[in-house]
Amino acid sequence: MGIKINDKSFKKNLEKNLNDDFMRAAMVKAQDLINKNRANVLSQLGDGNYQEWQKLSGEARAHAIENLDFYLNQFAENVVKNGGTVFFAKDAKEASQYVTNLAIEKGVKKVVKAKSMVTEEIGLNHDLIDAGVDVKETDLAEYILQLDDWNPPSHMVVPSLHLNKTQIRDVFAKNGYSGKDIPEDLAAFARAQLRNEFLTADMGIYGCNFAIAESGAITLISNEGNIDLCTSAPELQVAVMGMERILATYEDADICISLLARNAVGAKSTSYTTFVNGITEEGAADGAKEFHVVIVDNGRSKVLKSQFKEVLQCMRCAACLNICPIYRQVGGHSYNSIYSGPLGVVLTPLLAGYEDFEELPYMCSLCGACTEVCPSNIKLHSLIHEHKRVLAEDKKNSAFWGVSMTGAGKVFSRPWMYKLGTGIAPLMTKPLMEDGKIKKGISILKGWTDKRDMPALEKTRFRDWYASRSKGGNK
Ligand code: SF4
Repeated sequence: MGIKINDKSFKKNLEKNLNDDFMRAAMVKAQDLINKNRANVLSQLGDGNYQEWQKLSGEARAHAIENLDFYLNQFAENVVKNGGTVFFAKDAKEASQYVTNLAIEKGVKKVVKAKSMVTEEIGLNHDLIDAGVDVKETDLAEYILQLDDWNPPSHMVVPSLHLNKTQIRDVFAKNGYSGKDIPEDLAAFARAQLRNEFLTADMGIYGCNFAIAESGAITLISNEGNIDLCTSAPELQVAVMGMERILATYEDADICISLLARNAVGAKSTSYTTFVNGITEEGAADGAKEFHVVIVDNGRSKVLKSQFKEVLQCMRCAACLNICPIYRQVGGHSYNSIYSGPLGVVLTPLLAGYEDFEELPYMCSLCGACTEVCPSNIKLHSLIHEHKRVLAEDKKNSAFWGVSMTGAGKVFSRPWMYKLGTGIAPLMTKPLMEDGKIKKGISILKGWTDKRDMPALEKTRFRDWYASRSKGGNK
C-alpha cells in the first residue's frame, strides 16, 4: 500500500468522507468512549499528575532520539548477541525487498502478520503477495480489512473503525460466514479461521512498539493474543521497525508502556506485553529458531536533521487522533495516508513529501488539544504551524500568491483603500446572498460556501460601530 492510501484528489476524498454519515457518527462515538476511559485511567496514575508522567516519558523518548546513532548500534549489537540478524534499510524498497527475498530464499509459502504501521508504510504485503506468498493479517481489524479487498486503515489503533458490524458480517459472508452481525460470533469466526493459519505458517512478521537498546529486545503491546502466536508458532520470524522506535533502558520502557496503554485504549495495561529476545534455546517448544530485525529509515534520517525532529518521539498511541476536532469530523481516510490525525498531518509530508500532501497542514485548527494529550510530549500544533510556515514561504514565490499578497498588502497599508473596500464589500456580496447569508460563493469563496453558509457582511464597519459606541451610541 505505501503511505498514500488512494489516488483520489484531496478534495474528492474529503467530500466522500464528509458525506459518509455512518463513518462520521462512528468517529464521534469512538472518540467519546476512548476519551472517557482514558480520563478515568489517567486519574488513577500514582505519584503525580499526568503532566509529570508526560514529561518523564517525553524525556525518555527525546533522549533516545537525541542519541539515536548510539542506541541503534547498541540495540543492533545486542540483537546479534541474542542470535538474531539485523538489516538497516535505507528506504521502503530496500526494507520490503529484504523480507521478500528472505521469504523466497527460505521457501516460505505462508506468512502470519501482526498489525504494524511500518510494514504498511513500506508496502510489504503486496510485495510478498507478488512473490507468491500467502499473507494473513491476524489482528482482527486488519484481518477484516484484508478480507474487504485491502480496505485501508482509518485509525492507528482501531484500523477498521469506519466499518460497522453489519458491513463486517457482509465481508465475512463472502468468506464462508453464515451467522448474524453479532460481534462475539464474528470474532469467533475469525478466531477459528486464524488458528489454523498460525499453525501452518512458515514465517511470522510483526512490528515493534519499543526496541530496548540495553538488551536488544523487541517490545510488543497488544490485546488479542495474535502477536503472541506470531512470536511463538513460526520458526522463522521478522520484526520490522522504524529506526526511531528505540528506548535506552527497560526503566524508560516501563514509563512509556504505562502511558501507551492508557492513551491508546484507556486501560491500565493491555492484555499482553511481549518481549522478544532473539532466538529460543535449543529444544524449546516454541519461539524463533531464526530471527531478523529490519530497521527502516525511509526518510527518518532527514527528519532527524530538521526542525521537525521532535515528531520522531511519537509512540503511535493515537491519543492525538482521539482528541482532534478535525479528525472527529472527517475520519481517518480523509488524510489519504496510513498516518492520520495530527500525527499524520506532521509526519506524512515529511516521509512522503509535500507534493501529494500539501493540504494536510491545513487540516488543523491549531487548537493545541493534541499537544496537551501527547504522552511523548510532542508540541504537535507547533510542528503543524511550522509546516504552514514552510508552505507559505514556498508559495511566496508563486505568481498567484505573489499577486494576491501584493494586492492585499497595498489595500491594508492604505487606509483610504481599506475603508473603500470594507464599505463596498457588503454591496458586492449581495448577489451571493440567500436568507440573509452568503450561500453562493464564487472563486475561493465557493470552497467555503459549498459546505456551509457564511455570515452576511455587516453594513456598519467595526471602526464606525466602535466610534459611535464610544460616543454613547449603539452598544
Ligand atoms: S503524536 Fe503523541 S499523541 Fe499522537 S500518536 Fe504520537 S505519541 Fe500519541
